Amino acid sequence: MNIKSIIENCYNQVKEIENEGHLAAYIPELANIDPEKFGVYITTMDQNGFGMGDCSEKFSIQSIAKVLSLVMAYRILGKKIWERVDVEPSGNAFNSLLQLEVENGIPRNPFINAGALVISDILLTELDNPKAEFLDFVRRISNNPNIKYSRKIAESEKKVGYRNIALCNFIKSLGNINNEPDDVLDFYFNLCSLEMNCKELSELFLFLANNGCCTYSKEEILTERQSKRINALMQTCGFYDESGEFAFEVGLPGKSGVGGGIVAVHPDQYTIVVWSPKLNKNGNSFKGMKFLEAFTTKSKLSIF
Ligand code: GLU
Repeated sequence: MNIKSIIENCYNQVKEIENEGHLAAYIPELANIDPEKFGVYITTMDQNGFGMGDCSEKFSIQSIAKVLSLVMAYRILGKKIWERVDVEPSGNAFNSLLQLEVENGIPRNPFINAGALVISDILLTELDNPKAEFLDFVRRISNNPNIKYSRKIAESEKKVGYRNIALCNFIKSLGNINNEPDDVLDFYFNLCSLEMNCKELSELFLFLANNGCCTYSKEEILTERQSKRINALMQTCGFYDESGEFAFEVGLPGKSGVGGGIVAVHPDQYTIVVWSPKLNKNGNSFKGMKFLEAFTTKSKLSIF
C-alpha cells in the first residue's frame, strides 16, 4: 500500500467537494482567514513525512493546545489531576455552563472549555512563569524553537471572551479555580493562540503515537500508561459533541480546534494533521472530517 498516493487521492477528492462549513467568526481574528486553505501532513513512526496543499502555512491551533496543557499538568500532578476534572464525554457544547452547577464545578473532561480552564489554573499554581514554561515545553517535545503564541489572536479572543469569562468565574464560585480568573483566562487565551503548520503539529504529536516517548530526544514525556489515557480521552472527548461520530467514521484518537485544524494519532504508526478553516455545525473542520474519513477508509489504517 502506498500512503502517499492514498493521501493524494483523498486530498484531490475532498478538495472538489462543496464546503458547507463556516469560519469560527466568534473570534474576530479567525474571521479573516482565507476559507479556502486546505493542508494535510502525515508523519510516520520512522519520522518520514508527506504533505499536500497548505501544509506549511501556520494556523491557530486553538483547542488542540488543550491536549498539550493537559499533558503538562498530568506530568506534574499524576493521577491526582482527576480530582479536579472528570474523564467523561459531556454530550454538551464545548463552551456550555449547564453541567457545572449540578456537578459541583468539576468539568466533565479536560477538552471542554471548563476543563481546560481548570487545567490552566493548575499550571498557574504549579509553574513560576506559566506562559514561558508552557511554550518551552511545547518547543521541547517537538524539537522546534519556531513555535510561538499569536498576541493578535489572544487579544482578539480576550476582547469578546464573554462565555469563557463567565465559565471561569462560575467555576471559581464553585471552588475549583484557585487563581484569579483574569490570570487563568489570560493564560488560556494564550495557549489557544499557538500557531503551527500541519507538519509541525503532526511532528509534535508523535510522542502520543510512541507510548509517550519523544521520538527525537527519547525523553519520556508521559509513561506508557499515561499516554494511553491521553489517547483514550482524545478518542472519547476530542471532537466536541461529535466525538462518537469521529470514532464511528474515522476511528482514531484525535483533537480538533475552531481554527479548523484536526490532529489524529494512530498509536505505533503515525500522526496526521488536516487544516481547513470552515467548520461544520459541531465546530469541527468540514473538509478535515471528510478527508480523514476517506483516508482511514482507503488505507484501512484506523484503530478499529
Ligand atoms: N479559544 C477557543 C474558545 O475558548 C477554543 C475553542 C476550540 O477550539 O474548541 O472558545
